[in-house]
Amino acid sequence: MTSLPLISVDPDARGRKPAMPPRHLADLDLPGRRALVTELGEPAFRAKQVSNHYFGRLVRDPERMTDLPAATRERLAGTLLPTLLTPVRELACDDGATRKALWRLHDGSLVESVLMGYPDRVTVCISSQAGCGMACPFCATGQAGLTRNLSTAEIVDQAVYLAGVAASGAVAGSPPRLSHVVFMGMGEPLANYARVVAAIRRLVAPAPEGLGLSQRHITVSTVGLVPAIRRLASEDLSVTLALSLHAPDDELRDELVPVNQRWKVSEVLEAAWDYAATTGRRVSIEYAMIKDVNDQPWRADLLGRLLAGKLAHVNLIPLNPTPGSRWDASPKPVEREFVRRLRDAGVSTTVRDTRGREIDGACGQLAAAEDTDSDSRAATA
Ligand code: SAH
Repeated sequence: MTSLPLISVDPDARGRKPAMPPRHLADLDLPGRRALVTELGEPAFRAKQVSNHYFGRLVRDPERMTDLPAATRERLAGTLLPTLLTPVRELACDDGATRKALWRLHDGSLVESVLMGYPDRVTVCISSQAGCGMACPFCATGQAGLTRNLSTAEIVDQAVYLAGVAASGAVAGSPPRLSHVVFMGMGEPLANYARVVAAIRRLVAPAPEGLGLSQRHITVSTVGLVPAIRRLASEDLSVTLALSLHAPDDELRDELVPVNQRWKVSEVLEAAWDYAATTGRRVSIEYAMIKDVNDQPWRADLLGRLLAGKLAHVNLIPLNPTPGSRWDASPKPVEREFVRRLRDAGVSTTVRDTRGREIDGACGQLAAAEDTDSDSRAATA
């Protein structure tokens, strides 16, 4: 695959107060885009034409928008499709089935997205914030703190861009069409609530308004911001909720997911069950398996008791290494015993694959550092 050229961050940009990017058509619904185009003195139907290039054909180069008059192409595309993401580096592993993209935003912030191909589907894992303010000690993103929220279009554009990469046939052995989006990249999606919900609306709206994905194929992962979970349940969207639980007891969860100090295990689970009841969607419970920290048989039994009979599925994530972390992944026999106890309690449980580990593209490894060490591991196949 191609390794994109390394673009260094402007050092002056780092100290400045974060500014939001220019407005982009993906920030607006179709009526909003029509109004904008009319303001430019163009006929309203041009909004639909440009939208169709961007969302329907995954084309962003004005030269290829030949149904637009040559004289206004540049101006329309320049206004509706300003460049939001500049590719800094792309790394691949798993024989090209996993590709991590590092983007530079207009203010120099760096974020990452991961494209994952499977025989029957293509998933993109996208970021909702530059950095993250949730401070989970085992997550690389959490260590750096929050830089800023991403705009709706910065979120959507990650998926549209990588849908274009998938459509070019770059993910060998997978269908060419992007089918799934998970909000499991950098950031806490429910801490950037309005923009994330608007982004979901763009992802699920049929082309040319949006990307036309199925709501059921979108997963929002959260540390458990209870009021935001309740609000999401009222949005008339049936996206999948993933809850990063990581411990069944408050004592340990207070440490692993610090927001637990505000909303306790019982409160967050209650919000999750209400979400499941309202949407009919099974909630995914995320649990990173950390050696001698949260992997004891008694914690499996306690988790089993909390989840038995609920519309829930447990996703165990072998802990991925992060720089400077004092923790290791649980040994496989310990993991197997944990799975066995949960299943014995009647709880559906799977262990997540560790896609992207060697390119720091796996869960909790996205830190967006431009280190040369990662560069030297870039796949060149
Ligand atoms: N802020 C959101 C989404 C981002 S993280 C959330 O916390 O849910 C996506 C998942 O990866 C979360 O379940 C997160 O807890 C988990 N994760 C973070 N660091 C990890 C690590 N080092 N190993 C395994 N999983 C990790």
